[in-house]
Amino acid sequence: MKALPNFRRALGYIWPQKRRLAMMLIAVLGVTVFYAVSISSILPLLQVMFYQNETLPDWLYRSAAEHRLGAKIAVDVTVLEDGTQVGLQRGSASQPASSEPGIEIENVKIREETQAGPMQKAGVGKGDRIIAVNGQRGTHYDLLPVVAALPNEQPVNLLVVKARSDTVVPLQIVPKNAQLHSSLSLWVASKMPAGRDAKTRFRTLAWVIAGLLLVTTLGGICKFWHEYTVGVMVERGQLNLRRDVFSHVMQLPMSWFGQQQAGDTMSRVARDSSVVEMGMKILFEKMLSEPLKALGVLVVSLTLNWRLMVVVFLIMPAAGWVIWVLGNKIKRAQRRALHAWGQLLDLLDERIAGIKILKATHSERRESLRFFRRARTLFGQQVKIAKADAATSPLLEFVGALAVCTFVLYGGHLVFTGDMEAPAFFASMACLAGMLAPIRRIANVNNRLQSAESAGVRIFEILDLPCEKNVSGAVDLPALKHAIELRDVSFTYPGAERPAVQDVTLTIQAGETIAVVGPNGSGKTTLSNLLLRFLDPAKGQILIDGVDIRQATLRSLRTQMGLVTQDTVIFTDTIHGNIAYADPKAKRGRVEAAARAAHADDFIAKVHSEVGGREQVGYDAIVSNRTLSGGQKQRIAIARAVLNNPAILIFDEATSQVDADSEKKIQEALAELTRGRTTLIIAHRLSTVINADRIAVMDKGCIVAAGTHQQLLETCEQYRIFCNAQLQPA
Ligand code: ADP
Repeated sequence: MKALPNFRRALGYIWPQKRRLAMMLIAVLGVTVFYAVSISSILPLLQVMFYQNETLPDWLYRSAAEHRLGAKIAVDVTVLEDGTQVGLQRGSASQPASSEPGIEIENVKIREETQAGPMQKAGVGKGDRIIAVNGQRGTHYDLLPVVAALPNEQPVNLLVVKARSDTVVPLQIVPKNAQLHSSLSLWVASKMPAGRDAKTRFRTLAWVIAGLLLVTTLGGICKFWHEYTVGVMVERGQLNLRRDVFSHVMQLPMSWFGQQQAGDTMSRVARDSSVVEMGMKILFEKMLSEPLKALGVLVVSLTLNWRLMVVVFLIMPAAGWVIWVLGNKIKRAQRRALHAWGQLLDLLDERIAGIKILKATHSERRESLRFFRRARTLFGQQVKIAKADAATSPLLEFVGALAVCTFVLYGGHLVFTGDMEAPAFFASMACLAGMLAPIRRIANVNNRLQSAESAGVRIFEILDLPCEKNVSGAVDLPALKHAIELRDVSFTYPGAERPAVQDVTLTIQAGETIAVVGPNGSGKTTLSNLLLRFLDPAKGQILIDGVDIRQATLRSLRTQMGLVTQDTVIFTDTIHGNIAYADPKAKRGRVEAAARAAHADDFIAKVHSEVGGREQVGYDAIVSNRTLSGGQKQRIAIARAVLNNPAILIFDEATSQVDADSEKKIQEALAELTRGRTTLIIAHRLSTVINADRIAVMDKGCIVAAGTHQQLLETCEQYRIFCNAQLQPA
C-alpha cells in the first residue's frame, strides 16, 4: 500500500506499544460483538411483540425445525375461543385426517438453500401437514421442539397428511444436521418461560430487555476501554514524536536555523504533531471498530437474508469514490493550511519580539492588517477543508438512502410474495441501519487521515534532515596550548552573491586577545561562527594546535570555548540556573566565582523575584529576558561563558543597551578574564580595542590589516575611520 507514507511512518510511534495494542484489539472485538448482538436483538423483540400466538421459544423452535426439515413452516395464527389452546389444532386423533393437528408446511424451498431439502426430496409439498414424528402426535407447538431436537443423521418416521388428497402417508426422512446456532436457540428456548398468556409474554419481553441492557452495558465497558487505550496510546506516540522532533531540531546544524523561521518550526513541533495525533486517534477509534461493527451486523444479517449483502456491495464503490475525491481535496488544502499556520506563527513571533519598534513607529494598524491578511490565507484553506468535510457526510447519507430505498422496495416485494416474514424484514432493516451507521461514522476518517499525512510530510521533512555529526574517527581536542590558525578560510552563505568571509588567514596565539573590528556585514560574526563550527568553511582550514577542527569532536571543540553573543539570551530560570547553564550540577561556589569574575555579583545580590507568592532573592531569583537590563544580561552571559573556565573566549560586544556603569564593569571584567586566556572579541568600542593585544580589521569578508592600535593608526585607513567614528561625541 503506497497511500499515506508519512502517516504510516508516524504510526511507527504506536507499534512499539504492543500491550496496549493488544488490549485495544480485545476491546474492539467486544464492542463489535455486543453491537451486533444488540442490533440483532430487534428480531426477538419484534417476535415477542407482534405475533399473537407464537412466543419467543416457539419462534426459536420453529426456526430450528425449519432448518432441520429444509422447509418453511406456516406460522400458526389460529386462536381458539377459550383462549387457552392455540395453534393448528383442528381436532383429536379420532377425527378425520384433515382436522388432525400438526406442523403445516408452507413451502418446501428455502430461498437461501440451493439444494433440495429433506422434505422436498420426500415429495412433501405446500399445505401438507406433519401429524406425527417417530410415532409422537401433538399440536404444531408440541411437535416443533421434537423436530428441532431430532438426532443428526438418523432416519425419522413421519406421518404426513397430504393436502390434495387428505390422506395420511408414512414417510421416512433424514433431517439436516443441527448447526451450532440452532442448538444454541434450542438451549435458549428451553430456558424461557413457555406460556402464551399475556403475563408470560410480558415476562419474556422483560427478559429480552434485561438481556439487551446487559449487552449494552458490556458493550459500553468495552467501548470505554477501547477509547481510553487509544487515547493513552496515541498521546504517548505523540509525546515521543514531539520529543524526537524537538531533540532533532536541537541537533540540526546552525546553517538550517539561518534559513528557517522560528514560527514555522514551532508550528511543526506543536500543531503538525497534533494533526498527526488526531489522525492516529481517529484511525484507532473508528477505522478499526466501525468497519468491524458493520461486518458483525452484516454477518448477523446474512443469517436473516443474504440479499442485504448485495445491496451493501452496490453502495460500496459509490461510497468509496466519494471518500476518495473529498479526501484528496482535504489533503491539498491541509498542506497549504499548515504552511499558512507556520507563516502566521512566524509573523507573530517576529512582531512580538519587535513590539517596541512596532509601537514606536505607530505600526499597530499596519501590522494588524498584515496579520489579518496572513490569517485570511489560513482561513481560505480551512474553509476548503470545512467544505469538503461538510460534503462528505451528506453525500454518504445520500448513497446510504439509495441503499435503504432499494432494500425497502426489494424487501417489500419479498414480504408481499410471502418469501419473507415481517419481523425478519424489520430486523433486516435494523441491520441495514446498523451497518450504515458505522459506515457514516467513518465517512470523515479518510479526511482526517489525509490531513495527518500532510502534517506528517512536514514533520518528517525535519526529522529527515541530517544532524550535526562528528566525522568518522574524530579526535578529542585537548585544551588549546599554542595557537588557533585560520588558513585561507572562505565561506559563502547559501544564495548569497559574495562570500561573507574570504581568504582569511590569521593566527591567534594562545593567551592572546585579539579584537576584530570592521563595518557591519564585514563578516566578523561569521568568523566567530566558523571558529565554533556553527558553519564549516567552504575553502581553507581552521586549526587548533595543528588539528583541523573538522577532525575534532564537536563536544571537545565547543567545551573549550565560552561564547558571549551580542544579543544576550536569558532563559526564564533562576540566576543560578542561567549561569550554570553549561553545567547544571555546578555548586553555588563555582557559580558565585563566575559571577564575581563577570563583575555581576553586586547586582545579583539585589535581584529579587516573586513567583506564585514565593519571594526569592539573589542567585535563586527567577529572571527572564525582560526583567534584566542590557548590561546586567551581558554580565550574566559573561559569567555563563566563563563558568567552566574555557581556554578560548569569544565575545561579541553588545552595541547597545549597556549603560555607562555596566560598560565600565564589563570592561573591568574583560580585562581580568582575558588575562592569560585566548580571546576573540568582536569589538565595537574603542576602549575594548585599545586593551587588546592585537587588532584585526575586516572589510567585505577580508582581513585588510592586523596589528596593534598604534601600528594600525599609522597604516590602516579603515581603522582610522573606525577610531574617528568612536571619538565623535554621540
Ligand atoms: P558582521 O558581524 O561583521 O556584521 P556578519 O558576519 O554577520 O557580519 O555578516 C557577513 C555577511 O553575511 C553580511 O553580508 C550578511 O548579510 C551575510 N549573512 C549573515 N548571516 C547570514 C545568513 N544566515 N544567511 C545569509 N547571509 C548572511
